[in-house]
Amino acid sequence: MSSGAVFLNTALLMLKEAAEYLNLDPGLHEILKRPKRTVIVSVPIKTDKGETKVFTGIRVQHSNARGPYKGGVRYYPSVDVEEVTALAMLMTWKCAVVDLPYGGAKGGVACDPKSLSKSELERVTRRYTSMIYDVIGPYIDIPGPDVYTDAQTMAWMVDTYSMLRGVFTPEVATGKPISLYGSLGRLDATSRGVVITAREFFKSVGKPLKDAKVAIQGFGNVGYNAAKILHDEYGAKIIAVSDSKGGIYNSEGLNPHKVIEHKNKTGSVVGFPGSKPLAADEVLTVKCDLLIPAALENAINKQVAERIDAAVIAEGANGPTTPDGDKVLQERKIAVVPDILSNAGGVTVSYLEWVQNLKRETWTIEEVHSKLEAKMVRGFKDVNERAKKYEVPMRQGAMILAVEKVAEAINYQGIWP
Ligand code: GLU
Repeated sequence: MSSGAVFLNTALLMLKEAAEYLNLDPGLHEILKRPKRTVIVSVPIKTDKGETKVFTGIRVQHSNARGPYKGGVRYYPSVDVEEVTALAMLMTWKCAVVDLPYGGAKGGVACDPKSLSKSELERVTRRYTSMIYDVIGPYIDIPGPDVYTDAQTMAWMVDTYSMLRGVFTPEVATGKPISLYGSLGRLDATSRGVVITAREFFKSVGKPLKDAKVAIQGFGNVGYNAAKILHDEYGAKIIAVSDSKGGIYNSEGLNPHKVIEHKNKTGSVVGFPGSKPLAADEVLTVKCDLLIPAALENAINKQVAERIDAAVIAEGANGPTTPDGDKVLQERKIAVVPDILSNAGGVTVSYLEWVQNLKRETWTIEEVHSKLEAKMVRGFKDVNERAKKYEVPMRQGAMILAVEKVAEAINYQGIWP
């Protein structure tokens, strides 16, 4: 089974569980199991050497019952329809959990972005955008960044869409550069949201984040910024981090600014002066107070979960825990702030960016931060209320909250014709 297929099974299992708790109408469950639309496109480009290469592009639109479809685009070799479908479903739930007026979608191109030059990536992005042009739009489906896509990718998407439409339309995508209608605070928004929900969890058990020992899997946008915020603003100790090449450990704490400098210079966190080397997945099992998986799906399986030595896990990645892994964590009473709550800060500031764009306004960083803070704290509270009411862990609480909201919206609208 591809890792995408494993992930889709997980997503469907979580939906089934929530449907059971809610006693959901089987017809509504059936609707929510499938994406509303799946678009698979061919993305041919000329490489810098003049050769032709063809990639597969995907956009899955899961639900627009609560608003336009919303979700990122990822560039990664193993992207497939199952993976993108699972991620699109997660976006539907995530937007419902933090109460954004959006549905859920996800996109991807199966390619190895590290082996493509900047101009090749531009051609991939523009051709992909042109191929999904008919199904996206500011009130239809609004792409954003995800794994190995960034503000530059979003700028190319906006330009391609605007050129084809003949109207400058920055609000068709979010996560753009600041100089092109991007929002202050979007770059580290996912990480800030992860930290806010972790902080709320620590508060709920009467512990401070100060001096808390933190391990982070993944040192990309989410992992690095989470480390930075925890280190600079909360005085937490980042004791272990990793990337695809391996991990590093220092019980006295790592300085994230120095680690990123090293990574930018050498291509990896590995070999950071003064650190002890770790195998890539050993970072998940070091003894710590807070573990942040911020890489890809399926990282915490049964075997890993059995060895985790953390008080709480805040999921920066989408779907980092498999159902087997989750069961072990529950048995071992390791708390999990689930992805659809914990990492919702990214899409929340995407929403704030979109609102600014539609109104042609620019908000200060303070305004963005205070709105993000309010949404995340409210989401945390709502999830915990559901978890208490149904006597379930936060993951199930979040799913119950989300599925209830989306199902209600579908129910009111009815089935046309
Ligand atoms: N990639 C982000 C996520 O998984 C959201 C992207 C967006 O802002 O639409 O939540």
